[in-house]
Amino acid sequence: MANYLLRGGRVLDPSQGLDAYADLRIREGRIAEIASHLTPEAGETVIDCANCWIAPGLVDLHVHLREPGQSYKETLQTGGEAAVAGGFTSICCMPNTEPPLDSPALVRELLQRAERESPCRVYVVAALTQGMHGEQLCDYEGLKRAGAVACSDDAFPIQSAAVMRRAMRACAAAGLPVLTHCEETSLTEGASMHEGEVSARLGLRGMPPSAEALQIARNALLALETGCRLHIQHLSTAIGLTLIRFFRQQGASITTEVTPHHLLLTHHTCEGFDTNAKMNPPLRTPADVDALSEGLIRGDIDCIATDHAPHARFEKEQPFGLAPFGIVGLETALGCVLKWNADRGEPLSPLELIAHLSTRPAQILGLPAGTLQQGAPADVVVIDPDARWQVNPEQFRSMGKNSPFVGWTLSGRVCHTFVNGVRVYSAD
Ligand SMILES: [Zn+2]
Ligand SMILES: [Zn+2]
Repeated sequence: MANYLLRGGRVLDPSQGLDAYADLRIREGRIAEIASHLTPEAGETVIDCANCWIAPGLVDLHVHLREPGQSYKETLQTGGEAAVAGGFTSICCMPNTEPPLDSPALVRELLQRAERESPCRVYVVAALTQGMHGEQLCDYEGLKRAGAVACSDDAFPIQSAAVMRRAMRACAAAGLPVLTHCEETSLTEGASMHEGEVSARLGLRGMPPSAEALQIARNALLALETGCRLHIQHLSTAIGLTLIRFFRQQGASITTEVTPHHLLLTHHTCEGFDTNAKMNPPLRTPADVDALSEGLIRGDIDCIATDHAPHARFEKEQPFGLAPFGIVGLETALGCVLKWNADRGEPLSPLELIAHLSTRPAQILGLPAGTLQQGAPADVVVIDPDARWQVNPEQFRSMGKNSPFVGWTLSGRVCHTFVNGVRVYSAD
């Protein structure tokens, strides 16, 4: 296999607190060494990384790959290609497929297919209940043996506290973290955006912040009682963050993620009835965006995840109330996060940004990623943080073109992505 010398970049590795200008050698698929002025060896491909960051490949805990069953939206291959183009080398796929990933056989089969079809590493998050119906528990021990790294009810949040409690107790026993989409659906029926002045003006039914907050509180209480590791998905409200802080003080083991769109956009984005502003949880108020930003800066929010949710054009071309929830995010996440940081006056250092996009999410699920330690598999991304580019969905590798960032100019371009020492993406 090809060996590489990445020369003269700013090497950022949060796992060892490393932020230094240096060279990085990839040999036989692994990180061989990091030092200043390494001499090229015979047969090595030298890549000039001047003005670039050299970082561990990005890790996304929240991706919808749509397989099996919905390959008209995305496939393991196109989703994987979108991931590596966005600098991601490890992604976790959600179980709301057709059929849902609720059995060890389905998990095993998807992992085997991903190995062959996706250029990015794929980890499977299995369903929390059978068929994602919120009633019968799954075989968590079996799911774990099959390779699932967590269980989630994303898209179909369990409404019964009793079922949730049993599921969390059983997942704790099996050693599987639980990832939850927090939504009390009796408060969100028929709603397509945040409930507030904008929804009132547009005549659309809205989702109140209490719908998210109620389930954050419920799930946190159950985490305290069951000892289950709880990860709150796509946090969108200020009150939700306040609750997470409170329950952590009570000793609950909770982590949380925020999406780039919840850091950059508000419910005002829905004003043109653009269905690419329709996602669940919805875009919230400027005060929520400020609170989430503050939470990320202070470290109360652990990581960034995309909730990459590709849909076909005909689906998103429906009227706002009928179009499905969700947007793509893998190919814009890095640029959006750098824009957010620039807009806020650069509160986070490059090392902290890489921690939120790579090392922290890997740690949350115990994935072997997010590090440039010598001997680790060479999952590496080379980023030009200053290169500007315009978001054009026609250039996406993803089959989903549903992005609210179309036409935006972003800084931060992925130049090269390596998975296991293989160059799987190059911008040139
Ligand atoms: Zn969700
Ligand atoms: Zn999701």
